[in-house]
Amino acid sequence: IGTIGVLTSGGDAPGMNAAIRAVVRTALSKGLKVKGIMHGYAGLLNEEFIDMGMRSVSEIIQRGGTVLYTARCLEFKEMAGVIKAHEICEKNGIDGLVVIGGDGSFRGAQDLSNVGTPCIGIPGTIDNDIACSEYTIGYDTAMNTVVEMVDKLRDTANSHSRCSVVEVMGRRAGHIALNTGIACGAAVILVPEQDFDPERDLLARIRYAQECGKHHFIVMVAEGVGKAEEIAQIIRDNTGIDTRKTVLGHVQRGGSPTLRDRVVATQMGYHAVELLTQNIGNRVVAMKNGEIVDYEINEALSMKKGIETKLLEIAHCISI
Ligand code: ATP
Repeated sequence: IGTIGVLTSGGDAPGMNAAIRAVVRTALSKGLKVKGIMHGYAGLLNEEFIDMGMRSVSEIIQRGGTVLYTARCLEFKEMAGVIKAHEICEKNGIDGLVVIGGDGSFRGAQDLSNVGTPCIGIPGTIDNDIACSEYTIGYDTAMNTVVEMVDKLRDTANSHSRCSVVEVMGRRAGHIALNTGIACGAAVILVPEQDFDPERDLLARIRYAQECGKHHFIVMVAEGVGKAEEIAQIIRDNTGIDTRKTVLGHVQRGGSPTLRDRVVATQMGYHAVELLTQNIGNRVVAMKNGEIVDYEINEALSMKKGIETKLLEIAHCISI
């Protein structure tokens, strides 16, 4: 293998730059050449390449977002687009590709591997919703951002004896809501992995906390459960507590990556290049019991990951 490409795809996440940097520097130090591919698979199809040297990834480890930009690309979802991408790789001497993104991006990487360009996926998404890996790049930064924001909300909710309903990211996964809910002392945590019964899961908990003397409440809701405003309205209508909602939205995707995200991104970037140098493709890099491992993409995509049930139990136990 002589030259590899690296791209970021799907939603951005803090730490993607640290992963790009690790891929570039590992490859260069192993004697490979690296092409940075702009705008994900769309840029691959448009041949938006830049030659990456040791210094082209200077000053990016601490930056959020992705210097290669990211995009969603419909053309690449079709077989014709995948074959075209493979031909472009051959024409430009790209012998392997590192794709930093989520499940959708890995499906694309699998298709491209199957037509002859070996690809390695690296999980980059703030939701930690990639089943094969206990950790995804961006997760720690996003959670720390939530904690910082909710601590501020808590000051004002406390002063006014209010309830603050906070909607955090997570359409299908409640990892952010659960962990930040614990860290922020939420009275109620709602995650999409569990059925939501307003009386049982929300109102009864708030009433009980009230009986225990609590006069301000944080309700942490993953976006997959429902809209913060609707949940706030249920609380207002049934308890009379002054309730406000806050939707944190895309601030969760930004900011300088934390130490953990930088270190994991670096480990995963290194591992991805090691696989390509051994002519291994069609794999996703993952974390298992704290170690960096890899799985065949197909196997990775078929895996399932649940919510941390013990953590939920703890959260419910101490929310009084
Ligand atoms: P996230 O969920 O964190 O935003 P993702 O990687 O899952 O990340 P998607 O938008 O699903 O984000 O996928 C990114 C790109 O990967 C798509 O725009 C498309 O080019 C490619 N892709 C997605 N699904 C497939 C597929 N089934 N086959 C081939 N390519 C795909």
